[in-house]
Amino acid sequence: MAAVRSICCHCESRCGVLVELDDEGRPAAVTGDPSHPISRGFLCPRGRAAVDYYEDPRRLRVPLRRRGARGEGRWEEISWEAALDEVAAKLLAISEESGPEAVAYLNGTLFAGDGWFGNRLLHKLGSPNCGGAGLMCGGPQFAAGALTFGFASAFPEVVPGLTETVVVWGQHPAASAPMYWALIRQAQRAGAKLVVVDSRPTIESRHADLWLQPRPGTDAALALALVNLVIDEGLVDEDFVGRWARGLDELAARASEYPPERAAELTGVPAARIREAAALYAGRRPAALSSGTPNGQGRNALNLERSLQILIALTGNFERPGGNHLFGPLPEVGSEVTHDAFGEVPPEQRRKRLGADRFRLHGEGVELLSEAATRVWFGIEYPITRRSLGIAHPPSIFEAISSGDPYQVRALLLSHHNAVGAYSGSAAAVRALTDPKLELLVVHDLRLNPTSMLADIVLPAASWMEKPFMWSSGWGNLVATGHRVVAPAGERRSDYEFCRDLGRRLGQEWPDRVEDVYDEWLRPSGRSFAELLDSEQPWLPGTDQRRRHEQLDPSGEPLGFGTPSGQVELSSTVLAQLGYDPLPSYEPRTSQPEPDFPLYLMTGGTRIDATHQDHRQVPSLRARHPDPQLEIDPDLAAAHDIAAGDWVEIETEHGSIRQRATFTPDLGTDRVSAERWWYPERDGPTPSLFGYPEANVNAVTSCNLDACDPAYGALPYRIASCRIRREPDQG
Ligand code: SF4
Repeated sequence: MAAVRSICCHCESRCGVLVELDDEGRPAAVTGDPSHPISRGFLCPRGRAAVDYYEDPRRLRVPLRRRGARGEGRWEEISWEAALDEVAAKLLAISEESGPEAVAYLNGTLFAGDGWFGNRLLHKLGSPNCGGAGLMCGGPQFAAGALTFGFASAFPEVVPGLTETVVVWGQHPAASAPMYWALIRQAQRAGAKLVVVDSRPTIESRHADLWLQPRPGTDAALALALVNLVIDEGLVDEDFVGRWARGLDELAARASEYPPERAAELTGVPAARIREAAALYAGRRPAALSSGTPNGQGRNALNLERSLQILIALTGNFERPGGNHLFGPLPEVGSEVTHDAFGEVPPEQRRKRLGADRFRLHGEGVELLSEAATRVWFGIEYPITRRSLGIAHPPSIFEAISSGDPYQVRALLLSHHNAVGAYSGSAAAVRALTDPKLELLVVHDLRLNPTSMLADIVLPAASWMEKPFMWSSGWGNLVATGHRVVAPAGERRSDYEFCRDLGRRLGQEWPDRVEDVYDEWLRPSGRSFAELLDSEQPWLPGTDQRRRHEQLDPSGEPLGFGTPSGQVELSSTVLAQLGYDPLPSYEPRTSQPEPDFPLYLMTGGTRIDATHQDHRQVPSLRARHPDPQLEIDPDLAAAHDIAAGDWVEIETEHGSIRQRATFTPDLGTDRVSAERWWYPERDGPTPSLFGYPEANVNAVTSCNLDACDPAYGALPYRIASCRIRREPDQG
């Protein structure tokens, strides 16, 4: 069988794969590419199921136009040309009448390297209202890194045999980044200690030398206690901090409010364990620290991530081999940032970015941070815009659609984004997407889901096997290319083709093929996309920008950091300028369990058999995980007369859902953890919307803007409250 070399895009690990084709040229099997420099032949269950995923009979093949009411499920087939003509005419009319800001775009889980061209489409139109899942994902972490170090965040570089300590904070790499988890295990076997901080027991906590289990939503207090101990016990790297950082005295004063005993009261983690963690992290160096998606922390998201980035700076683990490393943008290869046309949006339009007046890091903040970063990072304009900053705030978009405040959003484009399932308080998304004031909802996706079901026009998307690929995120240490494995089935088009064909109708200039864009990105490296793709090693390593702050500028002075002060900002000048507290702090939970809803409700954990809300439609993966699962401590279950596998009603002040009890020893009797959207096999039309209100925990949480992080807008995912009961009807 012939095999085509490509890149699995079912999560951001982007493993190298070999896709075997049968005699008819159809994908028959996927194996790991042993020559790939990072994945080295590894393939997780999602990757192994990639053929089933590709072959899913529910995948869309032709464009559809709504015939009945939104969500009614009556469609007519339409040609791409007619669909795009109709969409373009409407967008131009709206843009003319209400300004381009009345058009918004959100993307979700990306299925290849061309997923960010929607931002270019919107920016070229003159709308600042694009964004999406990045805000729900690593956004707060990148924002914290930008505020502290002047670019993204300092990433862990675990080196087995060298790294002495690994800290995994609120992260589940065994499911979300399996290769990183394998590296951590290798480091442990070579003598490294593993510290895990997680409110839930996980595979990682079971392997940990030390597990800290804070109450949900209190992680920021714990992180501040570690900062306090590091300072108090003389564990600060005086040379680095004295030369390169500012704000240590103010930080020390703030952190002193969180001695271990107080942190123990706030978090439930014994003071002795907090001390042990500080000693392991700051006393056994090099130590590598990574964190998951801190969005669940709501108002404390940035507080937590700022404290973690600061810990890296204080302890001498920054830019130390085996510790954490700051990847800057790659000077020798372009990326989505190169072509996102961010700078083409006029300043008066940028000021209209939805959510940016309230969550000011997305407005004036991105301008301040980008200007400073540009000085250090090769003069690249707006190097830190994508994913983390300079994006619109999705719940603010929904709010604007429903209320018309601050202005009416009249058209929304969604790409690979099941918004109805994704956001906490997803009733707000449903309300917005069904509001008649939203005159046009266009979805480009792989299949019908609760969100595309509400669209006016649904366009069939090509999956990663159906398009050429170049993974160049704008930072990191590898640029990788992948072949298109097969021609798109039916009338599916790639993200690039969708954006190009719509953009041209809007009067925009777009290169003919995505390969032309990739050629342009590669030009400084002297390679072409085709040449790189067909070479023995179809990737480029990034240049090593280690310790860039020490490199000299043309006047012979060290470059320093890409922050306004040129230093590591323990106390942030940008946050101060925006009117926020420049230091990390801790706000007590806004959603304390109450007598009526006495349990913490954690939401949205990661699994190896499902990427976010995806993969439930793949039979081999569904067999591993047939029903939505409520993680519950056996002691709590016994108190409610719940047996393993029972259906449990989970009720909040916003409604109730049902999931099956999965016993999770050591979870704690004050909390449960529930999953997101389920049931791709249920009825599509409303009110079912593929089972959206039946089992999706986001359907019974809220997205009150007051509960979001005040500077960044991170969502309050994991800090709701609920009560539970065994369902009387177990059918
Ligand atoms: S889904 Fe699995 S195989 Fe695919 S990129 Fe992610 S870790 Fe690799």
